[in-house]
Amino acid sequence: MNILVTGGAGYIGSHVVEELQKSGFTPIVYDNFSTGHEAAVPDEVQLVEGDIHDVRFAKHIMEQFKIDAVIHFAASSLVGESMTDPAKYYFNNVEGSLHLLEAMRGAGVDRMVFSSTAAVYGEPEAVPITEDSRLAPTNVYGRTKLAIEGMLADYDHAYDMRYVALRYFNAAGASPTRDIGEDHSPESHLIPLILKTAQGVRKQVSIFGTDYPTADGTCVRDYIHVCDLAKAHVLALKHLLSGGSSRVYNLGSENGFSVRQMIDSAKKVTGVDFPVVEEARRAGDPAVLIASSAKIREELGWEPQHSSVDEVISTAWKWHKGHPHGLSLIHISEPTRLRRIS
Ligand code: UDP
Repeated sequence: MNILVTGGAGYIGSHVVEELQKSGFTPIVYDNFSTGHEAAVPDEVQLVEGDIHDVRFAKHIMEQFKIDAVIHFAASSLVGESMTDPAKYYFNNVEGSLHLLEAMRGAGVDRMVFSSTAAVYGEPEAVPITEDSRLAPTNVYGRTKLAIEGMLADYDHAYDMRYVALRYFNAAGASPTRDIGEDHSPESHLIPLILKTAQGVRKQVSIFGTDYPTADGTCVRDYIHVCDLAKAHVLALKHLLSGGSSRVYNLGSENGFSVRQMIDSAKKVTGVDFPVVEEARRAGDPAVLIASSAKIREELGWEPQHSSVDEVISTAWKWHKGHPHGLSLIHISEPTRLRRIS
């Protein structure tokens, strides 16, 4: 079956493309390369340079490739930037998703797996966080993802478009089998920043806040391996393709680790004793975010298998060591694969 993967040249998208291939699906990557990397897409995968805002072109591609379902990653995803440039986020995420949905409607494609986020919860009232927890995002990024979830529910109700929205906690790690990994610009995520410091590309790691009400005073997060996330997307896809109803699921390991614990694990895995400095809290960071993923475990049989902290860090480390400056400097071997079909 043919699956259109918007944002398939990005970090999570490229890992899902790998998992789709392993599971016998044919992924078609649709990406505008605003943040994605062509080098993250395997040579044998059809790559289409296109924008989700381009309704006619997206519809044409869905028809041409006889698309059975869409997995939708294409989005702007930097929390800090979303606060300083909300227009970009409402335009790319909310309006972009609306355009994509309209292209799907036009092409008669009625199944979507949607890349959502734990940021839809904001500051939790209790942990672990279940899907029924209060939805009160504290940043623009989370608000745009929640708006899209609402749009999907309305499209389901009115147009019978079924969806699975997957709310990720802290995606981390890298594929042990393919040369893909996490590369944002600018980088703001803890694990890549730690590993770039271990490599000597950055001078030091900052701990944002040491006075949180946690065991060691630093923030606690639920780190989930990107390969476990990828498996969940394929399960969600199979659920929809076998006639399943629309669902919303959390994706987390259900274990919390503090910033200090992540730094200690990275020092152990890398064997490098890099400098660490303590700084003030970063605005908008809740003290503890831990998922309950009971719902997807029970309903779809998902089970994280790679999300121990050491495996998350060691797979990320292996990738970072090979790419000290990320993916952007990689030589593109087959430029002809990049085609915009019109
Ligand atoms: N963090 C930190 N130093 C950094 C980057 C992040 O202490 O240089 C902390 C951040 O405050 C949060 C955790 O690490 O508690 C994870 O942050 P990240 O940006 O990776 O993901 P988020 O939880 O914000 O989605």
